[in-house]
Amino acid sequence: MTFEPAERVADVPPSGIRRFFELAEEMDDIISLGVGEPDFSAPWAAREAGIASLERGRTSYTANRGMRELRELIAGDMRTRYGLEYDPDDEVLVTTGASEAIDLAYRALIDPGDTVAIAQPSFVSYVPKAIFTDAEPLPVQTRREDEFKLTRAVLEEAGAAAADVLVMCYPNNPTGATMTGDELQEVAAFARENDLLVFSDEIYSALSYEHEHTSIATLEGMRERTVVFNGFSKAYAMTGLRLGYAMAPAEAIDAMNRIHQYTMLSAPTTAQYAAIEALESCSDEVETMCNQYDRRRKFVLSRFDEMGIDCFRAAGAFYVFPACPWDDTTAFAEALLEEERVAIVPGEAFGGEGHLRVSYATGLEDLKTAMNRIESFISG
Ligand code: PLP
Repeated sequence: MTFEPAERVADVPPSGIRRFFELAEEMDDIISLGVGEPDFSAPWAAREAGIASLERGRTSYTANRGMRELRELIAGDMRTRYGLEYDPDDEVLVTTGASEAIDLAYRALIDPGDTVAIAQPSFVSYVPKAIFTDAEPLPVQTRREDEFKLTRAVLEEAGAAAADVLVMCYPNNPTGATMTGDELQEVAAFARENDLLVFSDEIYSALSYEHEHTSIATLEGMRERTVVFNGFSKAYAMTGLRLGYAMAPAEAIDAMNRIHQYTMLSAPTTAQYAAIEALESCSDEVETMCNQYDRRRKFVLSRFDEMGIDCFRAAGAFYVFPACPWDDTTAFAEALLEEERVAIVPGEAFGGEGHLRVSYATGLEDLKTAMNRIESFISG
């Protein structure tokens, strides 16, 4: 008897980003523009609230759905930002990162054999999660000429009308693309006409630099067919605290909670205390971090422009997505790493052929050095 991975696991290749980090870890003097997490620490008040909860001995499980006070604050945040009402009792679920929330939605709401349309390029986990659910992933390739926004045309072209679920993420990882409320209207209309559920990953919603973020759930007829995911990893620089949440109509949250209560019981308690404080008192720190990301974004975009590299004006998250000067993006990224000690990730790790993901979640001084190194690499 040996441990043969189950077919659905054997079918999924290891994450392309991980492989790249492992290469980078073996080298010295690397500047990494490869990471998908903030270079800041969580706001001090949030960390202190976590510490204080430990000092007071708050080390038990919480309610399965998360602490009531936190669910109220999350619902309050959605109300203030978007005028969207979610009932903290049965329409909000606190999870171990947005990652768990997304996983629960797939497993609780998608049947084996269902088709999951996934706007690509995308965060690395959406396709594997479809395979783990025994569903059929259907890539919907967004285009450079549309600045990687999701359009009715690409949805139709991909055959997404026949899908059961549409998975999308704006502001986007890896492209940094954002969509305005007007632009989302045609996606919403497509979902309504074809009776699609929408899984909307809005984990970068606080990081939209050129216009206010719009949640697709605010559009007509969408709240009832959408699960919104969000969390504390990106906006509050709390990746390691592992806290996220989902918001959806009660029947969806109830189904998701049925899996959550047997697999996770409850999200990390210390992190929930930190998150309460984050929502109550840390908006200034979020704004400060956002301003710094925005400065770096403009700098990186202007440097690619100076180098003559095609890079659309990404307006969100902390990524830009330039076209790769070489045909083989993996070879380019590996050579850049070896010769210039700069780590970036080939776009195909995210279903984005011909492009590179460059993260600016790195201090401005390092960014300056890294951009100089990229320039000397491509001109040398
Ligand atoms: N969704 C997107 C689009 C991401 O980029 C990431 C992390 O990189 C996640 C979800 C995971 O978030 P969490 O840390 O809350 O699990």
